[in-house]
Amino acid sequence: MFPRQFDYVAPTSLDEALQALADNPNAKVMSGGMSLIPLMKLRLFSPQLVVDIGRIPGLDGISDDGDHIAVGALVRHAQTASDPLVAANAAALAQAAAWTGDAQVRNRGTTCGALAHADIAADQPAGALACGATMVARSASGSREIAAADFFVDTLTSALNDDEILVEVRLPKAGAGEGSAYDKLGRRGGHSDYAVAGAAAWVRKANGTVAEARVALTGVGSKPTLAPAVAAAIVGTDGSADAVVAAAEHALEGVTVLEDLYGSEEYKAHLAKVYARRALTSALDAV
Ligand SMILES: Cc1cc2nc3c(=O)[nH]c(=O)nc-3n(C[C@H](O)[C@H](O)[C@H](O)COP(=O)(O)OP(=O)(O)OC[C@H]3O[C@@H](n4cnc5c(N)ncnc54)[C@H](O)[C@@H]3O)c2cc1C
Repeated sequence: MFPRQFDYVAPTSLDEALQALADNPNAKVMSGGMSLIPLMKLRLFSPQLVVDIGRIPGLDGISDDGDHIAVGALVRHAQTASDPLVAANAAALAQAAAWTGDAQVRNRGTTCGALAHADIAADQPAGALACGATMVARSASGSREIAAADFFVDTLTSALNDDEILVEVRLPKAGAGEGSAYDKLGRRGGHSDYAVAGAAAWVRKANGTVAEARVALTGVGSKPTLAPAVAAAIVGTDGSADAVVAAAEHALEGVTVLEDLYGSEEYKAHLAKVYARRALTSALDAV
């Protein structure tokens, strides 16, 4: 199917792109186009204007910015997956990027695009949630920071306003005793394609005890979400295999499970526990 007719601009500065969004309430940002174009062809999205940010210089870098790693708006999945700074500080996000789609998708789609898109079964939102990422949104009227925990609002809905561009995702620097990991069951089995269900985990151990944890689920509900009861259950334990199994049993507390074409509610509930356990185990192994 063809998309409805739309106008297209490809600004060469961020200010120009932000002004185009401010002037056109029915505009959509395009970065990699890996999700926007298919949805326009399906006519699920019909913007009057597409603002292609792909030609704006300075947005395609990953940098060490003191207390955090900054991943720019045009950083591709493949770049996030292979970058040593991301691997060292947010392994869960690096792994999620490495398992996003196929090689073509990873060389074209962007990490910020995958976050902004907020698909219920996307990989990188789970990594960003577990790693405690912060999103930096810019509009013509200014800039604001949004914690990952507040960013994923509903199906294909993030906390970004229509006139905002996600210009950067910030990943906290990993300290001593910290580790993170991501694992999923892809729709075609293995790790390829969107997650039937998946989980990312981040832990900090101190003096042999789990002092802090975050676990995030994807593919099981209407949005990628934190599973706070798993994190609460593992904190204060020694992080042993038994403690992880017991904690993962809490995966569904405070989480709404929804069936979809790829799994019943019961199957997704089962997978949420399995992948919470696997992600926690790998995160603890990485400490
Ligand atoms: C064949 C195929 C397989 C895929 N498999 C997977 C998979 O296994 N796992 C997975 O997680 N995803 C998968 N995807 C989706 C893919 O990762 C997309 O690249 C990603 O969802 C969107 O990134 P993008 O840069 O292409 O964004 P676009 O397609 O350009 O945009 C997507 C949405 O986000 C908005 N947007 C994009 N960038 C910004 C920004 N900087 N600021 C504000 N809004 C923005 C757009 O307006 C649009 O609404 C797959 C896609 C394809 C085509």
